[in-house]
Amino acid sequence: MDFFNTKKQYNLLKTKINKAIASVHNHGKYIMGPEVIQLENLLKKYLNVKYVITCANGTDALMLSLMSINIKKGDAVFLPSFSFVSTAEAVAILGADPVFVDVDERTFNIKKESLIAAIENIKNNTDLNCKAIVSVDLFGQTSNYDELKKISQKYKLKLIADSAQSFGAKWKNKKVGNLADITTTSFFPAKPFGCYGDGGAVFTNNSRLFNKINSIRIHGSNKKKYQYSYVGINSRLDTIQASILIEKLRIFDKEIEIRNKIAKFYNKNLSKYLKIPIIDNNCRSVWAQYTLISNNRKKIINYLSKYKIPTAIYYPIPIHLQKPYQKFYKSPDGLKNSIILSKQVFSIPIYPYLSKKNQIEIISRIKETFKN
Ligand SMILES: *Cc1c(COP(=O)(O)O)cnc(C)c1O
Repeated sequence: MDFFNTKKQYNLLKTKINKAIASVHNHGKYIMGPEVIQLENLLKKYLNVKYVITCANGTDALMLSLMSINIKKGDAVFLPSFSFVSTAEAVAILGADPVFVDVDERTFNIKKESLIAAIENIKNNTDLNCKAIVSVDLFGQTSNYDELKKISQKYKLKLIADSAQSFGAKWKNKKVGNLADITTTSFFPAKPFGCYGDGGAVFTNNSRLFNKINSIRIHGSNKKKYQYSYVGINSRLDTIQASILIEKLRIFDKEIEIRNKIAKFYNKNLSKYLKIPIIDNNCRSVWAQYTLISNNRKKIINYLSKYKIPTAIYYPIPIHLQKPYQKFYKSPDGLKNSIILSKQVFSIPIYPYLSKKNQIEIISRIKETFKN
């Protein structure tokens, strides 16, 4: 059994994807070819968002977003500690201060009280300028964007959604891409909407931000060749990856449906034994991960591995406890949930091509660990 595998999906789409790649070889426009523009237009329609800027990966998508709002040394950006490192890395690399905030113990997303306490603390007790919030939609579930919008407006902060794991998810029937000032995603192969290499994108409805991000991703170039408006970076999505994503987008809604079915099946069979993931009623998750909570995860993981059932731990150490990030501020509440969750969470396989037989085996092996 695999924790995740791309082979079954590839076999399903093989003819179309091979043809798409061959057609890129035929025109030879490997950088910013017509498929890149076509994908951006398809994503605009799919998300109902005004502007899409594809780029090299999800980390760059965050960096491009932060650069577009001038994040720099002396600025504070609030973000959850229980996330993938990129969320904080993109802030720190620009010389700004990530300020770590705790997460809710059941949704795994940013905790309102912890965020407010962190903002008040930085505002009142430091010289940093409070500039932005980066929310993370962990494991495929959106953050609570009603709360976050209110807080960002009250404190005049820009709201960036790190939706690397939640492309396709919805909050109150609105798709990711429309829930924050700027939204970023990743097309890393193991994300819900992945390509066959690195890839990412930024979404916004703001034309000024679009123009700036669009320029920064190509060295800060402007319309005249070899003239530049900003200090930029080189971060483009390869045409070949775009051509692959175009084919995958056609079956993506179906895949989200299957992920939700598997999650429902797990929920029904595991809730008696373990803390199952809780999805807010306002949200449709895309189930990037199915993550359980146990104060005895080691026993369960070891037992499952005896039967070659793979598991993963996202994330074993919260970012604020990682060596390069210990020096930054954190919410005065001490980030208790992030610390406890890092010791108790484990994820089981949930990709759309996981067979029912495998799902049943995972459930019954987990149940067995509670019998002895
Ligand atoms: C994967 C991920 C990223 C980074 O995406 P890459 O494409 O790997 O750079 C950023 N944030 C979160 C929450 C992620 O899961």
